[in-house]
Amino acid sequence: MPDVKAVAVLGAGTMGHGIAQVAAAAGFRVVLRDISREFVEKGLAGLRKNLDAGVEKGKVTAADREKTLANVRGVVDLAEAVREADLVIEAIPEDLELKRRTFAEADRIAPAHSVLATNTSSLPVSAIAEATRRPERVVGMHFFNPPHLMKLLEIVRGQKTSEATVTVAREAGRRMGKECILVTDTPGFASSRLGLALGLEAMRMLEAGVASAEDIDAAMTLGYNHPVGPLKLTDQVGLDVRLAIAEHLAKTLGDRFRPPEVLRKMVAEGKLGKKSGQGFYKWAP
Ligand code: NAD
Repeated sequence: MPDVKAVAVLGAGTMGHGIAQVAAAAGFRVVLRDISREFVEKGLAGLRKNLDAGVEKGKVTAADREKTLANVRGVVDLAEAVREADLVIEAIPEDLELKRRTFAEADRIAPAHSVLATNTSSLPVSAIAEATRRPERVVGMHFFNPPHLMKLLEIVRGQKTSEATVTVAREAGRRMGKECILVTDTPGFASSRLGLALGLEAMRMLEAGVASAEDIDAAMTLGYNHPVGPLKLTDQVGLDVRLAIAEHLAKTLGDRFRPPEVLRKMVAEGKLGKKSGQGFYKWAP
């Protein structure tokens, strides 16, 4: 497997523009692709805003900001994005069929040596890999939100992912300043499964009247040094997002992930957390 020099990021949304940023900052030549010029520009603007904030806070030098920006360009054409990429990182919506179609297309165009990675948070990497003629070169690279601040990169080894492909993902992650963990292709991987277990139990405790939301969260922030409590974190992720993952894990891993009534009820009432202004906490607009 050759050294990665050129990276294509598919999807310029919440995750894609941040992944493009950390890849460009690591010195890779990056092409950021979305399906319309407007989305591409929005992603590039977000990336610039992150860098400006970094400069303002003294975390990024003005020279590094310029170097990073010089390494990224935005495109709408998929072929232009992946034609010369050594590593393609997909960050498009969490929809298995859409991801499979996109991987099949990228597989036809990308160089034979390229590694195709998915940023999926819950879908089976092996099912995405099967849409290509190179399942051994398909891997999960699960970044965390926001990618330029969060240290973890969860590398997911699909059923047919080769050792060499894992090494490419690990090395690219290391250059992007990430700490990598390696997990097998199981529902919820390590991060979503553990995070959700804590979140769902906290909701059951709230339902059972064990303590207030604030006090349940404080048990973990003050008692275990978690930076955010499980209920506040659920508000930040989105109650609808957590419900969808819980339903998927209940189906695949069993009843212990069955969504608590309070979660279903709040989602039905439109209380989705931070994005809707109300979840377990009230949020300013
Ligand atoms: P998002 O909706 O913010 O962005 C997705 C982008 O992909 C949109 O701009 C959309 O226009 C674009 N897109 C759609 N089809 C495309 C295609 N065929 N080619 C290129 N671009 C296309 O979504 P997001 O939150 O960035 O999530 C992306 C992926 O990352 C999902 O798989 C999600 O599960 C995963 N993820 C999200 C988070 C998070 O906190 N948001 C964290 C980790 C992983």
